[in-house]
Amino acid sequence: MNWKTSLRAGDVGAEQRLELSCRKCGAVRYLEPAAILARRGGDQLSLGQVEARARCTQRGCKGMMRMMLVRKGEASGFVGGLA
Ligand SMILES: [Zn+2]
Repeated sequence: MNWKTSLRAGDVGAEQRLELSCRKCGAVRYLEPAAILARRGGDQLSLGQVEARARCTQRGCKGMMRMMLVRKGEASGFVGGLA
């Protein structure tokens, strides 16, 4: 998944959003790029690094999250092959 290592939060367009789904329990939450950028050093992290650090927020789960880049307005429109 090259886009995860080549893209940073600042590269995510306004019409896109980051979706995190738990590999363990399947819970889904959305991550605003602005929230990543607000963290110290957040603008230096690739999305792959953000994904690696993300943990499920469900009570007692703390599972690893899978990140997807989706276009706003689509239920599950994976956007791949970004330049
Ligand atoms: Zn979970």
